[in-house]
Amino acid sequence: MLPRDFVSVFVGLGSNLGNSQETVEAAIRALSNLPQTQMLSCSSFYQSAPVEAEGPEFVNAVVHFQTRLNAFDLLRACQTIENLAGRERHYVNSPRTLDLDMLIYGDARIDSEFLKVPHPRMHERAFVLHPLRELAPEKVLETDLNFVSDQAIRKIC
Ligand code: AMP
Repeated sequence: MLPRDFVSVFVGLGSNLGNSQETVEAAIRALSNLPQTQMLSCSSFYQSAPVEAEGPEFVNAVVHFQTRLNAFDLLRACQTIENLAGRERHYVNSPRTLDLDMLIYGDARIDSEFLKVPHPRMHERAFVLHPLRELAPEKVLETDLNFVSDQAIRKIC
């Protein structure tokens, strides 16, 4: 069988427990080190107020990489990285050491129990749209940005 072609992927990262900036940096390194994966670019880091979550402000970023991992293996890899960061799921939307969301996996449209891509809520979240716009402006509509303009967010580095 021929090896699978590389697929262009965008993943959103967020953390609002512990040293969030270090956690996000370590997660980006972990994604870069995944097998059959090449990191392409990383957005600035942002600080955002929790949306549908609790606790302190989040540090957020989006990364763009290409991978030969299939979408479900990549989801499992993301969950392993979350778990290694010490993520505990006390209750729905509780504060999290690390949250990785697969935003876009090539042109794939997946609507399974465990994986939905494109991520169904990505267009409702300023902490996704602002960093994603840095990496792929064509994927973020002005109307989406207007829709999230009431969500507090600022670039930190
Ligand atoms: P959360 O607690 O917000 O990180 O949600 C994690 C759950 O969302 C896991 O059970 C995943 O299987 C599921 N999920 C569905 N679609 C996605 C996606 N595109 N990226 C990450 N997790 C997803």
